[in-house]
Amino acid sequence: MIEQAQNLLQEYYGFASFRPGQQEAIQHVLDQKNTLAVMPTGGGKSLCYQIPGLTLEGTAIIISPLISLMKDQVDALTSYGIAATYINSSLTFEEQRERINDMEQGRYKFVYVAPERFDSGSFLKTLRHINLSLIAFDEAHCISQWGHDFRPSYRSIVQTLDQIPNLPVVMGLTATATQEVIRDIKQLIHVADDSVVNTGFSRENLSFRLIKGRDKREFLVEYLKQRPQEAGIIYTATRKDADQLQNFFEKKGYSIGKYHAGMSEQQRKNVQSDFVQDEITTIVATNAFGMGIDKSNVRYVIHYSMPMNLESYYQEAGRAGRDGEPGDCVLLFSGQDIHLQRFLIDQSMMDEEKKKDEFGKLQSMVNYCHTHMCLQQYILDYFDNPFQTEPCGKCSNCLHEGEEQDLTKEAQMVLSCVKRMGERFGAGLTAKVLRGSNDQKVKQFKFHNLSTYGILSHYTERDLTQFINFLTAEGLLSPGQGRYPALQLTEQSVGVLKGERPVKMLVETTTAAAEVDYDVEKFEELRRMRKSIADEAGLPPYVIFSDATLKEFTIYLPANREEMLRIKGVGEQKFEQYGPSFLEILAPWAEDVKDRPSPPSQPKFIKKKPRSSSAGPSHEESFDMWKNKNMTIEEVAKARDYSIQTIENHIFRSMKEGADIEWGEWFSDEQEETVLMAHSQLEDKKLKLLKDSLPEDYSYRMIKAVLVKHGYM
Ligand code: ADP
Ligand code: MG
Repeated sequence: MIEQAQNLLQEYYGFASFRPGQQEAIQHVLDQKNTLAVMPTGGGKSLCYQIPGLTLEGTAIIISPLISLMKDQVDALTSYGIAATYINSSLTFEEQRERINDMEQGRYKFVYVAPERFDSGSFLKTLRHINLSLIAFDEAHCISQWGHDFRPSYRSIVQTLDQIPNLPVVMGLTATATQEVIRDIKQLIHVADDSVVNTGFSRENLSFRLIKGRDKREFLVEYLKQRPQEAGIIYTATRKDADQLQNFFEKKGYSIGKYHAGMSEQQRKNVQSDFVQDEITTIVATNAFGMGIDKSNVRYVIHYSMPMNLESYYQEAGRAGRDGEPGDCVLLFSGQDIHLQRFLIDQSMMDEEKKKDEFGKLQSMVNYCHTHMCLQQYILDYFDNPFQTEPCGKCSNCLHEGEEQDLTKEAQMVLSCVKRMGERFGAGLTAKVLRGSNDQKVKQFKFHNLSTYGILSHYTERDLTQFINFLTAEGLLSPGQGRYPALQLTEQSVGVLKGERPVKMLVETTTAAAEVDYDVEKFEELRRMRKSIADEAGLPPYVIFSDATLKEFTIYLPANREEMLRIKGVGEQKFEQYGPSFLEILAPWAEDVKDRPSPPSQPKFIKKKPRSSSAGPSHEESFDMWKNKNMTIEEVAKARDYSIQTIENHIFRSMKEGADIEWGEWFSDEQEETVLMAHSQLEDKKLKLLKDSLPEDYSYRMIKAVLVKHGYM
């Protein structure tokens, strides 16, 4: 029979060969074995029930959760000359009756229905009377209450099936199923172990990217400029965001579609069809968009903010590249996204148990945004991918340029601090304790008496918070189960504390000036130096310093150890080995230049306190007076004969460069939260508008400080 299947593939669909898993799944069904097919989006699941449906006698019933999807599928089948229809609530009662009649006469090879149809007595009666070839549950994860899209009506069909004496072979198809969900589906529709076809979830044509700390709109404008002809979806977390983003682009002269549940059905239909027909290339949408879209040439999916869980993320991102051609999946992350998702879960109608579950899933999503492992591997691990996979080599983590730092000691300090704090607090307070902050809360809980108090005082609070997030993403800390994170040690953390497990972190370097104008002649000279060192050491030159690093050398002309360490790609180790040789060339160059620019990028986790000598740049001098001489901003302004605002800006600039400051002196946790919330709600992020939307006692100074801390200024 499988030869026949092969012929059908050619004849009806015009495909030369099966995709992974298709033939096996088809074979099981033809052998009358109940089958579960787990294949990635775009893997070609439809064929797995369509070909058996064509081969076997009788009518195939396809249960599908989405009405819009049914029509597309039926249209496709009809275009191949196959008798197919759908019966759902979009039809009039008359039309429904007519189609059921035709079905009774055996006129269809395929009938698509929504799960609710099984509640109808007349439909069931018809089923009992006709010759059935198979019953297929598309999007079968909806059956399982562990799935992220659980539909009670889906599950209740299972009992109804027992009432059909002529029950044919049953199959389930899904792209997103954890092992738990697979077990559940198998049990419900009676699938034997050897009839599960699982090709894994890997989508090799997709590249995942995380973008942090960038202006999201600016990023989008640049991105769309580079891809004017390509089809893509931009997902937002809320309708409001979708509206605002579309407005924004419209003002810039882009024609972009919009889709969300607040629009009329007709509007939504129009947009969807414009998109499918390539009339518009880009769509801004909430998660309401997509389930019903089979458009295969979507080239990119951008998430404007972090979604609630990885299930949704992978499903939405997975709408890129269904045709097997490259697809770009970008997540624009900012810390605020977490607040919003927590808020959404908290405000939802879910019961407490379910909320807890959702908070757990949210944490895995957050971890994705902090992990340093291959992003594709991270996702596949999350879904218990049955196959070992290699790092993808093309996600933003795999491509990351940076330097691996051994931070085992720091990790041990963090872990023991968490332990001493009773495993009851989140990253924020833990960072404060480690840094030795004078914060109210630290005193209230008497944490300033802990031996770990101030033990990492040479790092900034912001860097420590990021480091703690990293440790959580690595599974060395658990965020706890509740609504508010309460860090706890894990089994793995014991290994770190005992010194059996090293902790290494790729030190992030911002992709800064490397692409701007560098000095070609100087670059060539540095390259020659690099080559001779490399030859002597028997190493490839790029191992010494990358091209990007050499280019930055020509721009910033570092003249001493400190300055060189601030260049991207120069760590302590590298400096010891190669730094001095390069300084020999660089120092004389630096002398010739009057105003050398200072490097914008520093490795994030090794920011040191700024030099306290007052010989530094002007802003550092202001900062030094304010911080080390304990003068107020007003006093510094007077002493230096500058305006208060200038001094304020000096201090903000130092903060941005990672100066060690006590955020608690600028704002409370609550104020911080309020400013962030207001900021995330504003379409136009002008400071004045932000100020106006906040309580009166929120000063510009305080608001700015929050924005600086979170990288919005
Ligand atoms: P899924 O339901 O698994 O997400 P579909 O069944 O919608 O995927 O198939 C995705 C795309 O792949 C469709 O355009 C389909 O025509 C195409 N396709 C399916 N099987 C094959 C095959 N064997 N060879 C080539 N293309 C295929
Ligand atoms: Mg499908």
